[in-house]
Amino acid sequence: MNRQYEKETICIQSGWKPKNGEPRVLPICQSTTFKYDSSEQMGRLFDLEEEGFFYTRLQNPTNECVAAKICELEGGTAAMLTSSGQAATYYAVFNICEAGDHVVLSSTVYGGTFNLLTCTMKKMGISCTVVDPDAPAEEIEKAFRENTKCVFAETIANPALVVLDIEKFAYLAHGHQVPLIVDNTFATPINCNPFRWGADIVTHSTTKYMDGHAVSVGGCIVDSGNFDWAEYPDKFPGLCTPDESYHGIIYTEKFGKAAYITKATSQLMRDLGSIQSPQNAFLLNIGLETLPLRMERHCYNAQRVAEYLEAHEKVAWVNYPGLKSSRYYELAKKYMPGGTCGVISFGLKGGRSAAASMMDHLNLAAIVTHVADARTCILHPASHTHRQMSDEQLIEAGVAPDLIRLSVGIENVRDIIADLEQALCQAD
Ligand SMILES: *Cc1c(COP(=O)(O)O)cnc(C)c1O
Repeated sequence: MNRQYEKETICIQSGWKPKNGEPRVLPICQSTTFKYDSSEQMGRLFDLEEEGFFYTRLQNPTNECVAAKICELEGGTAAMLTSSGQAATYYAVFNICEAGDHVVLSSTVYGGTFNLLTCTMKKMGISCTVVDPDAPAEEIEKAFRENTKCVFAETIANPALVVLDIEKFAYLAHGHQVPLIVDNTFATPINCNPFRWGADIVTHSTTKYMDGHAVSVGGCIVDSGNFDWAEYPDKFPGLCTPDESYHGIIYTEKFGKAAYITKATSQLMRDLGSIQSPQNAFLLNIGLETLPLRMERHCYNAQRVAEYLEAHEKVAWVNYPGLKSSRYYELAKKYMPGGTCGVISFGLKGGRSAAASMMDHLNLAAIVTHVADARTCILHPASHTHRQMSDEQLIEAGVAPDLIRLSVGIENVRDIIADLEQALCQAD
């Protein structure tokens, strides 16, 4: 087989490749452990001398197949699943940062990521400098320090919908000999492959579009294999010097392009244990099969809804990267020519109170703390997901206090618009 499959085909055919007589559909290996005939062979597995499964906290065949599919979709060299998107973010950063290190963080990242890096990881001695992703390169440049180990940003920020200038960020990161980590949750690999534009590592909350049906929480980390850790051994001692917890293995020497993911599975997953359950990986795999179809419909519907809202007299502003009026229209066209995502943010002329009133009148769109799945849903971040943040922090994160986040589903768009129409009509 020489042909490199298109993404639609990868979504259906990749990952699990059954041999003669094996199940056609990816089986759930609901087993914590795996049997071996000799004690010596088991020993070699523990020493990472041989590849194989021994305990599901470290690796599981179902999970491996699903990670391999996502890896192929992103055009990476190695990938791993995690129990949640939060775990993916944490591992992606902690795999190369330790106490005393520093991260450059885009201010518009998801609220959970912002908390993790600015509060929780700070307690672990890892500091970060928050930068405005729209600032000129010379401005962002000032955030870098001697001890900076990575840059973290989102392709399309949740919920600010800021489209990242990936090339600008990759250029800045590489100029300081550190990798760019991009959370590609909202765009999905169907609409954007950050590796093509210089990102080194991609993370996902698979809970969102990838699963797509709001049935399983999960995450994924993919490594492009492009960042040459061995070039900067002083910056990345965890990858370039002997790991005492593995009899002195040096990841970059032993695993080459797979060094980063191997360290994350064999060291972080071993010690911290945020594994995705094989049952959830199975569900995620079913979601992945229809991801391209769903993304197309999400983007089509969101474009129609955004245009409808923009023309509505009660609507003060609409932010959707597919609108010509969006300041991210050009960036979106460059990085995501096939469409961005199904999420729209907007504000009403009546402000915060009109937002609450409108949301209470919706019938089809449900108020839920979720985003990016098949069902249309809505949220007011300032009152819900971001309520721990001050107004000042909200504005810095690109989340205006009146911002309504509408996640457009894959229902018939006429029904979605009709629901919004009657709710806007009744809102005061
Ligand atoms: C939801 C989300 C996360 C966190 O993922 P969980 O699966 O909820 O832990 C991280 N990044 C982005 C962009 C998200 O939307």
